[in-house]
Amino acid sequence: MEHESKQILENSGIKTTGSMVASSEDEAIEMSTNLGYPVVLKIVSPDVVHKTDSGGVKLNLTNEADVRKAYQDILSRFKTERIIGISVQKMAFPGLEAIIGVTRDASFGPVLMFGLGGIFAEVLKDVTFRVLPISEDSLDEMIEEIKGYSLLKGYRGQSIDISALKGLLIKVSNLAIMYPEIAELELNPVILYPSGYLAVDARMFVDFAPSKSALEVPKKKETLFQLFYPQSIAVLGATDSKGKLGYNVMWNLISHQFPGKLYPVNSHKETVLGLKAYKSILDVEDPVDAAIIIVPAGAAPKAIEDCCEKGVKFLVVESAGFAETGEAGRKIQSDIKELIIRKGCRLLGPNCSGIINTHHNMVQSIGVIDQLRKGNIGLIAQAGVYAAGILTGLRNVLDFGIIATIGNKMDVSEADILEFMGQDQNIEVIALYMEDVTSGQRFVDVAGQVSQKKPVIVLKAGRTEAGKKAVSSHTASMAGSDEINSAAFRQSGVIRARDNEHLFSLLRAFSKQPLPKGPGVLVVTYTGSLGVAATDMLYTSNLRLSELESYLKKRIASCLDDYLNIQNPVDCSFSMNPEQVKKIIEIGVQSKDVHSLIVIVQGEMLDSYVDTLTGINYMGKPVLCCVACKEFMMEHVIRMEQKGIPVYSTPEMAAEVLGEMHRYSLQHHKIRIKSLDRFLEDNSFTIANRKVRLRLLTQRDMDLWMEFVNSCSPRSLWLRFLSPFSATPEIAQRFCNINPDEEVAVAAEITEEGRKKLIAIARLITCQPRDEVEYAVIVTDSWQQQKLGRMLSKACLNLAKHLDVRVVNAETIQENFPIVRVLNHFHFKIESKERNMILMSLELK
Ligand code: ADP
Ligand code: MG
Repeated sequence: MEHESKQILENSGIKTTGSMVASSEDEAIEMSTNLGYPVVLKIVSPDVVHKTDSGGVKLNLTNEADVRKAYQDILSRFKTERIIGISVQKMAFPGLEAIIGVTRDASFGPVLMFGLGGIFAEVLKDVTFRVLPISEDSLDEMIEEIKGYSLLKGYRGQSIDISALKGLLIKVSNLAIMYPEIAELELNPVILYPSGYLAVDARMFVDFAPSKSALEVPKKKETLFQLFYPQSIAVLGATDSKGKLGYNVMWNLISHQFPGKLYPVNSHKETVLGLKAYKSILDVEDPVDAAIIIVPAGAAPKAIEDCCEKGVKFLVVESAGFAETGEAGRKIQSDIKELIIRKGCRLLGPNCSGIINTHHNMVQSIGVIDQLRKGNIGLIAQAGVYAAGILTGLRNVLDFGIIATIGNKMDVSEADILEFMGQDQNIEVIALYMEDVTSGQRFVDVAGQVSQKKPVIVLKAGRTEAGKKAVSSHTASMAGSDEINSAAFRQSGVIRARDNEHLFSLLRAFSKQPLPKGPGVLVVTYTGSLGVAATDMLYTSNLRLSELESYLKKRIASCLDDYLNIQNPVDCSFSMNPEQVKKIIEIGVQSKDVHSLIVIVQGEMLDSYVDTLTGINYMGKPVLCCVACKEFMMEHVIRMEQKGIPVYSTPEMAAEVLGEMHRYSLQHHKIRIKSLDRFLEDNSFTIANRKVRLRLLTQRDMDLWMEFVNSCSPRSLWLRFLSPFSATPEIAQRFCNINPDEEVAVAAEITEEGRKKLIAIARLITCQPRDEVEYAVIVTDSWQQQKLGRMLSKACLNLAKHLDVRVVNAETIQENFPIVRVLNHFHFKIESKERNMILMSLELK
């Protein structure tokens, strides 16, 4: 009940309006006098959940008479309910009402909800979720993500106390993590103020039954390498009777030329498909890395026991007839589980279709699979049939590296495989098709790690809210489990596909094309209307049309019939031809504002475009092709796809996919910037008792940057830039808006009278080859000759090492003595001197 919940909250340092309960009118008066008016009276009864609805809340009581009347009135309304007493609490000042809750999700465990309270929560459902524990970044995102964020920022002309709110969210999260018996917790409302907050109502449900995950056996941290790259495989249940699954598995392994040893095990055969067969796996003399089990379910426990005895570490159980079939199967499955936990081996399946690893010529599928090309996509699918379907249908346009089917995932889960694929160099994009997430919290952790390195795209079935159980708290009712799925995916940086078509569209682009380095898109089309459709979707996807430099525009105009008006989308009209498109693209990719391209071509002429379009140097910028009604030109579409350019049937889909790539790339940058900032923070130093903080220069620093430039003397600027230099907003934009993959600008910052100020800036600019950087540094005049240049350079050289840079080059004018001295100090060698320029370089170990 409210007063008990508030007591627990108070004990955890959360501020509430109090938890006193009066059992008589006089006691209520005494409490009110002690608290000070105005006060609030509320019914306290285990039978009343929604107190206001039944008249159990009396607000703003300003004197003794009010309290007496309210007390009597409440009592008169609750004749049949059990009454514990009447709660007396301080009346909180008005503020912004929010709701904070915790519920427990079957797969992800404790989940935190935050949103605006009152009708915002009930009618507009303006709430957001995160799986716990939650990082500082996730907290910020959570607060910024709700639609009512603008109210938080500007409530009655004042911003609410965001840091107090964050502190509160952390306290609530910690409470839920520390006490697993708290099944649900809800503060509704919490009143947020420009300074601080107050929880005026609280509710908690406690459940002492241990949660399901507490019974799970903790996973050992070991690599699954031998499961995906075994040197020897035994197949229990191998046969040469055509049509049987044990035949198909053997046939697949042999015909795809599995490079390791194969041991068919079958007690009735001497040979299987020309290979010596063994009566039992125990008869195999050499060690066996992995075993595929395809015997009937009833015989599986014995087969698995033999494998364990043989010392096989990885088992792939492809037989069906386990937990998916009913009680008897469930029993066998749990026996097997106990067995493998005892023996310490890992098991994929049961009821799966094994693994395909094209980089290891290994096909374990139960369906016959013919030729496959090697590729960079990793696919994790629950159902073997789904994976097989994709493979048959899509192998013309998608190239897979590893396909893993997980079936009933009794042991090895989607998170385990995701973790492995994250480390496998052959895999560059990962797709997951899942019906349920059983690895919950671990999935969030692993996906969060992996998605920093490569894109992870998830298609999760069961988006609808069907089957939602009736629950008593808003938190639980608003947490239709799909909301929690979405939150968990967002939190871990995973891209969520809405359906199969969307998944394949994303996969084709992510696996074949580089990521865009900015939002500008050049669209080349043969018809204005498809260009408009692309444009609309670009802007909805947070992209925009590129603004080409005027000299490039002129050159493009010369490729067009002169009546056509040159702009982006470049409309070549129906007379468009491959050579013309090639010329336009080659001019367009030179623009600084073109970060990616969409080319819309006529379906009936697609054939003539394939070689031209796939032969162009796009300078590392992604290109997607759109052919309306491509379904009818599949032969040419396939040729184009196989040569690396994805083809979409609508410009909207092409634009949307580009938008997703851009979003991923931004997210990637954000993470990179964070990690570089952490590194720089550790390399910060003190000069003359002043703390000099190092951090990345970002777009938000434009004002500080302008101030910095203005603080430098013309001579200092000239020595650094070798030309007169002044700070205009355009130049500030160019110098501060930095792509962290191409360039790192390190700002040295001090705080002076409470204001931040930049005193030096150094840059590491990536050049060709990509493990070389160009180094430059400038120190403001008042800070020169205090070893700031040297300290900053030392930190930058550390950073370069951290980034695996091999060579640091620095070019300067010979009379820039301070810089030359710094470079000498770090043993830069002179590469060349030309007129008054000097080029020095340092090889890092
Ligand atoms: P319930 O949710 O059970 O109906 P609450 O305790 O949340 O009851 O009270 C209903 C509403 O009354 C709250 O949403 C809040 O607006 C207001 N309220 C409740 N307690 C206080 C209080 N101590 N100070 C100010 N307003 C309050
Ligand atoms: Mg309430």
